[in-house]
Amino acid sequence: MKALFRGFILTISMVACAQEVEPVPMELDPLALDVVETAGVLDTPRPLDEEDTAEEVEPAVALNVPRDQTRVAVLGYHNFSKTAPVTQMLIRTSEFREQMEYIRRNGLTVISMQDFLEWRLGTRTLPARCVLITLDDGWKSVYTEAFPILKEYGYPFTLFLYTNFLSGRGDSLTPAQVREMQAHGATVGSHSVSHLYPSSWKKREKLGAEAYAELVDAEVGESQKKLSELFGAVNTYCYPGGYHTPAMVERLAGHGYVAAFTVIPGKVTVSEAALEIPRYMIFGNNSSVFRAAMDFRVAQLGTVVSTGASPGTLPTSTPPPPFLVSPKPEETVAPDFPAITAYMSGVAGVDFSTVQMKVSGFGRVPAKVDKATRAVQWVLPCRIYMPNLSVHVTWKSTEGTSHKAEWSFSIDPNAPIKTVNTTP
Ligand SMILES: [Zn+2]
Repeated sequence: MKALFRGFILTISMVACAQEVEPVPMELDPLALDVVETAGVLDTPRPLDEEDTAEEVEPAVALNVPRDQTRVAVLGYHNFSKTAPVTQMLIRTSEFREQMEYIRRNGLTVISMQDFLEWRLGTRTLPARCVLITLDDGWKSVYTEAFPILKEYGYPFTLFLYTNFLSGRGDSLTPAQVREMQAHGATVGSHSVSHLYPSSWKKREKLGAEAYAELVDAEVGESQKKLSELFGAVNTYCYPGGYHTPAMVERLAGHGYVAAFTVIPGKVTVSEAALEIPRYMIFGNNSSVFRAAMDFRVAQLGTVVSTGASPGTLPTSTPPPPFLVSPKPEETVAPDFPAITAYMSGVAGVDFSTVQMKVSGFGRVPAKVDKATRAVQWVLPCRIYMPNLSVHVTWKSTEGTSHKAEWSFSIDPNAPIKTVNTTP
């Protein structure tokens, strides 16, 4: 059983941690409050990223697989802010960081546009689960908020810029900022000249094929020309608002674009049409699309990819712990549940200096042991996207015999998140 459990702990985690998200204050029953208020702590909590904290398992470097076995989640972002109210188009900077951390912890490979294109063209292979990060429009916050995080993680990314919004005025990027980002992993793609609404395209379409083609040429051709002059060759496009028509797609190919991105969610394989690449638009006010983007379990045709036991789930035969715990065994909680607690007051002869808590995906966690209440508690440093967590508490008795207790519980991905996305 021990070896089996270790297997779960080593399972690549599906956990996201935002360094900027404060631990959630406890609001549990009186016993839990005692735990918080009583002194006599034996083990002080340490931040997760501290070197000696945990047997946190670094994701292994993913190996390349045959081309048809790779799937890429293309993520689309717009605007970022630490304080402004979040919307579909504007994401909290801390949540963006959380998502980048999630990608790292799960051992997904963030690829550059060049990697993506070479893989699509057949000249290179990639790992099975890849992520391509794209940022649309050219908001100044891409430079001030997202870029430092992307640079820190060493993730390449693609900027889809529309040339009318590239002056540095208002909330737009300057060409100098774009160039600086190019020096740190950014690829520039076109997002048209003026970011027309579908109504403008439809109006033009009514004037006939020639007039329509003229507008396409102006929007996709002129932007390509201008961006190429400023930043070097541009051969990728992103449809403003995702709006595209067969005539537009056809025209795009004539301008030498080798990939064009939609807003239709789905994993990219080698077989999708090059000028209609699926992409997940990540909303700032709802993390469900990000969760879907990160879910590589279901293959393109709806078949479930076998990954063995789902991480964090214990075999149903596991006996419940011989003390109260929170969350309870088999309970379903929201992703921002505050803490994992084992109330060990009923257990005789515990040597509390030996108590350890391990959590699937985290390894050994800095749980706090309260001598007075005999509660062992780990306050979550971040919210958890993982569908299940298993907890493993071990201790020695004062006579030296070893003991352990295990339980697992579920996290409802659709439960509302309370701790982030709040307006200041
Ligand atoms: Zn746009």
